[in-house]
Amino acid sequence: METNTQEAKETISVYGARVHNLKNIDVEIPRDSLVVITGLSGSGKSSLAFDTIFAEGQRRYIETFSAYARNFLGGMERPDVDKITGLSPVISIEQKTTNRNPRSTVGTTTEIYDFLRLLYARAGDAYSYLTGEKMVKYTEEQILELIMERYIGKRIYLLAPVVRNRKGHYKELFEQISKKGYLTVRVDGVIREILPGMRVDRYKMHSIEVLIDKLQVSNKFADNLKASLRTAMKQGDGLIMIQDVESGDVRHFSRQLMCPTTGLSYSEPAPHTFSFNSPHGACPRCKGLGVVNQVDMGKIVPKPQLSIYAGGIAPLGKYKNSLFFWQLEAICEKHGVSIKTPIKDIPQEAMDDIMFGTDERLQIKNESLGTSNYVVAFEGVTKYIEMQQDSDSSASAQKWAEQFIKTDVCPDCNGQRLNKEALHYKINEKNIAELAEMDIQRLYDWIQDMDVHISERQQVIAQEIKKEIVSRLSFLLDVGLNYLSLNRASVTLSGGESQRIRLATQIGSQLVNVLYILDEPSIGLHQRDNNRLIDSLKKLRDSGNSVIVVEHDKDIMLDADYVVDLGPYAGRRGGKVVFAGTPQEMLSASTMTADYLNGKLKIEIPKKRRKGNGKKITIKGATGHNLKDVSVTFPLNTFICVTGVSGSGKSSLINGTLQPILSQHLYKSLTDPLPYKTLDGIDNVDKVISVDQSPIGRTPRSNPATYTGVFSDIRNLFVGLPESKIRGYKPGRFSFNVKGGRCEVCGGNGYKTIGMNFLPDVYVQCEECHGKRYNRETLEVRFKGKSIADVLDMTINMAVEFFENVPVILHKVRVLQEVGLGYLKLGQPSTTLSGGESQRIKLASELARIDTGNTIYILDEPTTGLHFEDIRVLLGVLNKLVDRGNTIIVIEHNQDIIKSADYIIDMGPDGGIGGGTVVAVGKPEEVINEKNSFTAEYLRNELS
Ligand code: ADP
Ligand code: ADP
Ligand code: ZN
Ligand code: ZN
Repeated sequence: METNTQEAKETISVYGARVHNLKNIDVEIPRDSLVVITGLSGSGKSSLAFDTIFAEGQRRYIETFSAYARNFLGGMERPDVDKITGLSPVISIEQKTTNRNPRSTVGTTTEIYDFLRLLYARAGDAYSYLTGEKMVKYTEEQILELIMERYIGKRIYLLAPVVRNRKGHYKELFEQISKKGYLTVRVDGVIREILPGMRVDRYKMHSIEVLIDKLQVSNKFADNLKASLRTAMKQGDGLIMIQDVESGDVRHFSRQLMCPTTGLSYSEPAPHTFSFNSPHGACPRCKGLGVVNQVDMGKIVPKPQLSIYAGGIAPLGKYKNSLFFWQLEAICEKHGVSIKTPIKDIPQEAMDDIMFGTDERLQIKNESLGTSNYVVAFEGVTKYIEMQQDSDSSASAQKWAEQFIKTDVCPDCNGQRLNKEALHYKINEKNIAELAEMDIQRLYDWIQDMDVHISERQQVIAQEIKKEIVSRLSFLLDVGLNYLSLNRASVTLSGGESQRIRLATQIGSQLVNVLYILDEPSIGLHQRDNNRLIDSLKKLRDSGNSVIVVEHDKDIMLDADYVVDLGPYAGRRGGKVVFAGTPQEMLSASTMTADYLNGKLKIEIPKKRRKGNGKKITIKGATGHNLKDVSVTFPLNTFICVTGVSGSGKSSLINGTLQPILSQHLYKSLTDPLPYKTLDGIDNVDKVISVDQSPIGRTPRSNPATYTGVFSDIRNLFVGLPESKIRGYKPGRFSFNVKGGRCEVCGGNGYKTIGMNFLPDVYVQCEECHGKRYNRETLEVRFKGKSIADVLDMTINMAVEFFENVPVILHKVRVLQEVGLGYLKLGQPSTTLSGGESQRIKLASELARIDTGNTIYILDEPTTGLHFEDIRVLLGVLNKLVDRGNTIIVIEHNQDIIKSADYIIDMGPDGGIGGGTVVAVGKPEEVINEKNSFTAEYLRNELS
């Protein structure tokens, strides 16, 4: 007998999962619940949640497609798991922002902007962009009435416009008009009879109307007027003009939206009229991007005291005997200067010619051209740079050009992305771009309040659309994104922000019976907003879905229906289920996570706060994004934590202002900082290092050993072995990147890539070296019985034991172990490392380095992906760096990090326009006294 297992299932059951480090585990997860998967970093959480459950759900979904569609999507490999039952369709909401499309905004991803477009198309009032008057639109009846009223007793010309402000001789047009039987036209305001062969100046702009009728307006002849009016409407395509014969005054009337004074008409508005991604709505100058790339004069002429000859025009460099310079010579000469004149003394008109080109033909006299004088036009330096920016130019040329280009707000639309017409539709005095600029909170209030200010007709039309907009906005407010605006480009959002936007969008989509899998949704969120996030997750669950989150946050764990704890450790020593049950049950369990939850284990508050070495750097007058003239001092040789609710301005201050200033000063980096006035004390710093979560390498050829440099030490060790000496092996012999010792069949990859046409590439182990990457001879050289390939296959923990007598190597692998990465293999491809793992590898290589002691390390939410225990380890590493004289600046929401800092800079008080100031600074013990600070509120509990 068959039973429908899908329907009856109350759990999602995973049997025999072996993906990555998972130890053939079975897990039962209740359906329609909020489930947290937790455990140390590297314990196998993502391997279970994403690489097993999500991957299998995805695969089954694609199986349901036709073979044809599957060809295009690519087949998916079955994850290494025996069986999964009770699986619903799966949607994952990850942090990775794969969306690099500059046209995607908060408004488009949430679909709120789409509803606003509909609202403006249906209920917006159009205004003339020429006069600002409200546009009018009449039926033929109304037009007739208006004419009768206004012109009664007067003689009028009834005209049908056919050409408006366009160039041409219009010879054929005049012929056509006369063939239709009309004898008179109005050309550029003058009534003229059409003569045979008539034409106008083809290089000038003209406006032409056909005279349909000339009549005296009276009630008696209303029918005549009506008939002529209809003809005029037909000839003028819905537009007519009336000229008062006596006074010459002209007025326009239209069935379309029209400006009553100038006759400017708009076509019927539709949702695409307001889309910056459609040619109907986009600003023609910036094509809807809101920004334009322009040549940056400051970078082209960085030193105006230099002459052109001496290399004053940076992209051209010093004088070369080339046509380009001869042209410059000719231009200078024309303006009475020379290319040896300092640029600051060259007249502006000459510089304009040089930069933007000239149509005038230049006389070039140069002996290399012989006696003949060349006469050529010049395109200008900026044109030359812009040409290199074209997509057909080589990548290096584009890169070269980029350094002289800056991105500016589009001067035509002021960054509003839409054309003039679209920007002149208003509801309650606001156009659609102004709504998109508001932060979500203000927009929510505005929409709620809208009805009072609009007509009854508009209210009726808007009602349903308004509901959709309001509900979506309130989901965004629920996940703590009140400070964002709809026009914010998706590419500028942090991982946490875009994840929460997708979360809000999913809640809005009201799907049921879906399994959602989320990766640390609490990232980027202040403790204050955690409860609202938890409520949103519950909302998703309560509408009939299963929700699995990979999380380390205490509140979310305690508020979940069920917790799965993986461990006991990471990597090889993890991959087992150490606990599964309700949070209440967990509190009395004995896993490391449980111990941190019930307080048996905890991160101690430091006994002393460091005062620093007395040196400092001070930034003054920072005004980037929402920063309100922020001035703040960073005491050096301390551990500084920058706190504040999401959107308060932490990244704008640290990543957007401080870091680029330091990099510009120390490394001549070309990234401009956000605006600020001064920075004092820069001489106290000689290095700045951002330790972020970006991958340590983009190819499988990079790995922890290559990144930290320990691999060259290992190679040197192998070169120094007696066996190598006898054979005359050099370090290249032990590299898998160059010919010599590597396996040439796979080129040192260890695997071969097989292209599968429509399917994704398949990797198969190299049949020659069996994945070892080296040829047989190389592998014959052994240290303590292990070949170089065996060493790459060791975990870092194993390597620490193995190299205990080789100090250079030991030192480097031990710091990797110290940052909690002992479970990684030395040769694990960097493409398989998580963001947190990459970040800690970077920290470890910094620790291994002999440092200057005057370095500033900047970290943005380093606790991402970290368990309590991992955080304890991380704090140890950070403190070590400070003890050596360096300065740490971290942006964090994690309470354990905040309470461990020497110095706190708390931003706020709120996000967006409600933030952007420094609310509190000082030792944690001082900051808790600040009444205005949300951070203080939570920190008080931690410190008591
Ligand atoms: P968590 O999510 O708990 O931090 P992961 O599931 O990402 O842990 O990783 C578990 C283990 O599997 C780690 O040792 C990690 O380095 C390893 N791992 C992750 N992805 C891959 C992969 N694609 N290939 C091989 N090993 C991997
Ligand atoms: P935090 O790091 O504290 O979360 P941010 O510095 O990211 O805060 O944001 C502060 C304010 O600046 C917010 O209102 C945010 O929307 C705005 N903002 C941040 N980055 C950008 C950007 N690239 N473009 C426009 N506005 C931005
Ligand atoms: Zn524009
Ligand atoms: Zn091979």
